[in-house]
Amino acid sequence: MDVVVAARKLVKKYNGMEAVKGIDFTVRARECFGILGPNGAGKSSTINMLIGLSPVTAGELRVFGLDVRTAARQIKRRLGVVPQDNNLDTDLTVMQNLVVYASYFNIPRHTARTRGLELLKFFDLAAKSGEKVEHLSGGMKRRLTIARALINDPELVVLDEPTTGLDPQARHLVWQRLFRLKERGVTLILTTHYMEEAGQLCDRLVIMDRGTILDTGTPCDLVHRHIGTEVLELGRAAAEADTLLAAVGPLIRGYQVVGDDLVLYPRDGRALLGALQDRQHRFARLLLRPASLEDVFLKLTGRGFDG
Ligand code: ADP
Repeated sequence: MDVVVAARKLVKKYNGMEAVKGIDFTVRARECFGILGPNGAGKSSTINMLIGLSPVTAGELRVFGLDVRTAARQIKRRLGVVPQDNNLDTDLTVMQNLVVYASYFNIPRHTARTRGLELLKFFDLAAKSGEKVEHLSGGMKRRLTIARALINDPELVVLDEPTTGLDPQARHLVWQRLFRLKERGVTLILTTHYMEEAGQLCDRLVIMDRGTILDTGTPCDLVHRHIGTEVLELGRAAAEADTLLAAVGPLIRGYQVVGDDLVLYPRDGRALLGALQDRQHRFARLLLRPASLEDVFLKLTGRGFDG
């Protein structure tokens, strides 16, 4: 299996403050790899080293088998970057943005226009080709930024928070296009603090918090390994957690106190509901639902997402 990115004991420090604390991960060809974590986890610091924007403090980081310290230029030619802020030239038209960006890769104007048009079609923006960027919606700007990152036909595309700030509809449109890109064989790395985004798009992901990787796996693996298939939320039951746990102990795989709530990981949701039937009226809320990556994160860190 081809390895596109390999990080070993990777460290990033800012003035002595360790933002990335010696992490290891591997990204394989043609997968969508997610770096999931709350604000301040170290996601951007990690990918900024990967795209050559910020120097590696310590450890090893290889992209396409090349050391980012010594081969930044060769790596950049084969890389597409979608920064957190769109940083498009708002005075220029949609097509002009693509052509100007292509010139940084020494792509001839004619080729840039042909390729640009293909990309605009792919991202449903062809009708906006001559429109000034300042007139585009947030979702369109985001799609244009992704299109721009593809102008050099990269093997690997790195996206920092690709859908932050978009409404749900615009977000789904971006997801659909990223999914199609993956089908075309492009390797994707994305950072996100959206659980749903990671769950929908990523083949594998790492959960990061405070500069470390807490676990790695497919979204499904992570959920099954840490939680199971379902969770039962008991609203405002934290105060009587000890009594409840003593009563239902054999029926659960684990639990988590989340604020005032008690969240149980049942072996069998219906059986657990049955066992709690007599006490039902005592809970502010009783909700049996499928387990999610958010539950995994809560369990691993003991706190929720703030982003
Ligand atoms: P994330 O992308 O997960 O939100 P970041 O990598 O941006 O996390 O930040 C990780 C930590 O490093 C945070 O504490 C942040 O304040 C700090 N940090 C990020 N960039 C810089 C910088 N350029 N200078 C100093 N500290 C920084």
